Amino acid sequence: MSSDVDLQVCITEADINKTIDRMADEINRDYRDKNPLVIGVLIGSFIFLADLVRRLTFPLDIDFTRLSSYSSGTTTSGEVKMLLEPSIEIQGRDILIVEDIADTGYSISYLMRYLKERNPNSLRLCVLADKPSNRKVHIDIDYKGFTVPGDFLVGYGLDYQSKYRNLPDLCVLGENGE
Ligand code: 5GP
Ligand code: MG
Repeated sequence: MSSDVDLQVCITEADINKTIDRMADEINRDYRDKNPLVIGVLIGSFIFLADLVRRLTFPLDIDFTRLSSYSSGTTTSGEVKMLLEPSIEIQGRDILIVEDIADTGYSISYLMRYLKERNPNSLRLCVLADKPSNRKVHIDIDYKGFTVPGDFLVGYGLDYQSKYRNLPDLCVLGENGE
């Protein structure tokens, strides 16, 4: 990584693993006989989803969606559009959304609305990191990894300008990373 970038480890790989163990226990308990459809929100959740589903011990299907919030730099405008629609039928399924971060809540509430319109049997939300201080719209998180401050995070799937997704820890990108 270039030397003018300030990256501070915020949550280590070991802590992430422990937390995903705990989340998987909760999900294993709740979904044992449901054959859920797990929907990952690309791109940021790809590593989290891969780590989570390998700890789930029941049959499940996996699909992806991709959302884009019209954003500049590290802020979100509130307008969301779907770049990739899930391809597996939603109706009648028990849906578990797997998302990296709940920040303003705009992306998740958009996705929840989209999925609810397609009449799932149930709809729950699993989020690795929650930033409640930035929330603009209410969302209910059923499975939560960490509660974090409002800082911009990279690593463990999360990017800044499509970089840093491969870092194993969750890191705070400092001022001179801008
Ligand atoms: P929202 O503001 O709609 O809740 O979040 C929109 C999306 O912005 C999140 O799903 C996530 O992909 C991205 N996002 C929010 N906070 C951060 C952050 O700290 N770092 C990175 N890389 N992406 C973030
Ligand atoms: Mg995301």
